[in-house]
Amino acid sequence: MKFSFVIIGGGLSGLAAAIRYARYSPDVLLLEQHHRVGGLNSYYHRGNKLLETGLHAVTNYAPANAKHAPLNRLFRQLKISRKSFITYPQCCSEIHFPKNNVLRFSNDFRILKEEIAKKYSTSYNGFTKLVDAIAAYDPFQPQKFRSAKKFVLSYLDNELLTDMLLCPLMYYGSSTENDIDLSQFVIMFRSIYQEGMFRPDGTIKDFLDSLIAHYKQLGGTIKLKSKVVRILTEQKTARAVELDDGEQIECDHLISTIGADETLQLTGTPQSQPLKKRLGFIESIFLADVDKESKLPKKKTILFFSSSNTFNYSRPKDLVDYNSGVICFPGNFEGRPEQKYYEIRSTHLANYGQWAKKRRDEHSYSIEKDLAANQSARVVENYIGTFQERVIFRDTFTPLTIKRYTSKIDGAIYGSPVKIKDGNIGFTNLFLAGTDQGFLGIIGSMLSGVSMVNQHILPKI
Ligand SMILES: Cc1cc2nc3c(=O)[nH]c(=O)nc-3n(C[C@H](O)[C@H](O)[C@H](O)COP(=O)(O)OP(=O)(O)OC[C@H]3O[C@@H](n4cnc5c(N)ncnc54)[C@H](O)[C@@H]3O)c2cc1C
Repeated sequence: MKFSFVIIGGGLSGLAAAIRYARYSPDVLLLEQHHRVGGLNSYYHRGNKLLETGLHAVTNYAPANAKHAPLNRLFRQLKISRKSFITYPQCCSEIHFPKNNVLRFSNDFRILKEEIAKKYSTSYNGFTKLVDAIAAYDPFQPQKFRSAKKFVLSYLDNELLTDMLLCPLMYYGSSTENDIDLSQFVIMFRSIYQEGMFRPDGTIKDFLDSLIAHYKQLGGTIKLKSKVVRILTEQKTARAVELDDGEQIECDHLISTIGADETLQLTGTPQSQPLKKRLGFIESIFLADVDKESKLPKKKTILFFSSSNTFNYSRPKDLVDYNSGVICFPGNFEGRPEQKYYEIRSTHLANYGQWAKKRRDEHSYSIEKDLAANQSARVVENYIGTFQERVIFRDTFTPLTIKRYTSKIDGAIYGSPVKIKDGNIGFTNLFLAGTDQGFLGIIGSMLSGVSMVNQHILPKI
């Protein structure tokens, strides 16, 4: 079998790359190891419930008429109708640090500015200069790692406020301990604080189904349950991929979305350096059966918290670090139809190696997962009030779950701390897209797929 263009990985970056190419030629094949697309951002069923794996909120909110907004540019590139894509904006989100240090923000950037003017007035002048510096910065020029923490602190001169502002941006897209690359920071600042967050109508399944239907309509081919086990190369050119059933598929162009080290392993390239430290997360989903009188938040969408003034974004020594985290309420988006159950999702930093040790004994692994869900719920209750007695369903993903479903090394959602922004991993026709190319999150990974096809593949056909 031969296809002109093959993509490894049916996550959002792979889907976007496939659709972008299919607009020009149907000679394209998307390969996904699982029986379903979506990767980190997929879904599963328990009983009659559909549960999403990785959707708190989509960043880069923009109304349909904002022509130059990244979200709308992405839709144009994929030839998807933006007008029929219904979005529910977040209500309001908060950053909680000790001693009542709370910052509110929404999709109206003025709210965050007002909060800083009111609560951290001595840093307000610096904050406006920081916003100007962010506007002037081009994050798409390939550059070496630069500390965003130092950059922000130099404007704000306030460590607490710096950590508070960085907390959501690190949780939603830093693969580096206790910092974030400046370019990544600029992208995240714009996409979270200045543009904002939303949910699409329906569930992630509806979104993925619509992408697949569009891709197939353009003539593209997809093969599920097709794990690539080898990339066959000849003098730095990828000739074919080999699947786990032994089938070989030849190609002229190849994009891999499964991670840089993961891809190089498939080419048989010896590892030149030890793998860099990666960050793992644990996520719990709680569905609670609450009545209308419930005091649980109805107008808050996401809470980011740290129980110490200094935000510690690093791999914990133990299984989980409960001192910081994210609490998301997927039901609390403006205009989203009422859901049957009140959903709470909690996220904390976790240690892949420690979880792997527990996994040696299946029983103790499942006990630890249960304990982690209990402990996370207790921590969450400090911020939102009690809900555990109303929980009718709960589930927890450890870094091992992430590894199992996406094959990411150490189950690291944001991949390697080293990003390869031009997608070039040393081959003439094999390029990287997705998490390790450096654009993170749902919209980021889709933009990555599109931009790598635009840059490396379309000019050659
Ligand atoms: C719990 C959680 C919450 C999240 N919340 C948000 C959020 O609220 N907002 C947001 O914007 N982002 C969120 N994200 C992040 C977002 O989901 C990811 O950044 C994005 O989906 C990454 O897409 P990707 O295509 O780069 O990678 P992936 O989704 O990892 O896709 C890679 C695909 O490649 C497949 N694959 C791997 N190896 C092979 C192989 N050898 N052969 C064939 N296929 C292979 C995998 O199965 C996978 O489907 C969250 C993620 C998680 C896990």
